[in-house]
Amino acid sequence: QAKAHSKNSYQYFCREINAATQDQLALEAAMRRGIDEGEFSLHYQPLIDLFSGTVIGAEALLRWTRADGSSIPPDRFIPVAEENGLIHPLGQWALREACRQNRAWQEAGYPRIKMAVNISGFQLRRSDFVPLVGSILLETGLRPGDLELELTESSLMENSEVNVLRLHALKALGVSLSIDDFGTGYSSLSYLKRFPLDVLKIDRSFITDVPRGEHDRVITEAIIAMAHRLGLKVLAEGIETADQLLFLKRHRCAMGQGHFFSEPLPAGEFARFLGHHSRLCPRSSTSSGSYD
Ligand code: C2E
Ligand code: MG
Ligand code: MG
Ligand code: MG
Repeated sequence: QAKAHSKNSYQYFCREINAATQDQLALEAAMRRGIDEGEFSLHYQPLIDLFSGTVIGAEALLRWTRADGSSIPPDRFIPVAEENGLIHPLGQWALREACRQNRAWQEAGYPRIKMAVNISGFQLRRSDFVPLVGSILLETGLRPGDLELELTESSLMENSEVNVLRLHALKALGVSLSIDDFGTGYSSLSYLKRFPLDVLKIDRSFITDVPRGEHDRVITEAIIAMAHRLGLKVLAEGIETADQLLFLKRHRCAMGQGHFFSEPLPAGEFARFLGHHSRLCPRSSTSSGSYD
């Protein structure tokens, strides 16, 4: 009886694994095809100076819309791309396209902003990553200071000795570095001093319950204070309400992003938003601003 049972569950288990592998393989094949056929694009979410309400940057976020019109979110396809190696062509395409787009906005006369690009730990781990960034900057003509690379705590810690050197090499190119989803990865804070970082991005999960949730309020306050003490700039992710904005301003968090200001937008819509919410266009920013 016990044997029969375990045989059944074994078969059941195999079927489950098989189905998961099939799904994975199908997704991988679709991803390869999607890359070739231009199904991937970038959306841009405005990064906001919380005190002036102006746009100071954009975060480039990958989007995958398939031929049938359905879309697959990055939280689903990035891990798969990391497993099958497609993160390299995809990440390289995203970096080049984001740099090209930022330069194109500058040439079209829009105010200069920073372009933030998410970098997977798998990309950072390649020894040719720094030269790749250098050549993309040369090729697109974007000033290094107008590019920011977003790295995660876990990807920095994976190979921390090499990464310290690699991050210094990136700093030598002139790009800025931020740490994404701060507070959700390794809890060791000592690395913050070892890496030459510029910006700390507080993960959305802490901002969600601010200012009502006492826990998250305390954590958010502490992260902001610590960032300041370490000489880092701080940006809050996932701002959705005026209360959250007020709380963050009170604690002198200078930058943020979130649906309260704007969702990630296709390039054309982002440019329009930038035109309306930039320091150089005070008239339009007061007439159409949804925030102060
Ligand atoms: P992330 O880098 O932390 O990006 C912020 C995510 O929060 C984005 O999700 C954005 O749409 C979402 N978000 C922004 N404001 C709000 C808000 O007010 N409320 C809520 N609920 N969500 C908000 P998205 O675009 O689905 O991307 C998810 C993750 O996928 C990113 O998290 C990033 O880790 C990864 N990703 C996206 N594009 C790339 C890429 O080009 N390369 C790599 N390596 N990863 C990427
Ligand atoms: Mg990010
Ligand atoms: Mg993030
Ligand atoms: Mg995230």
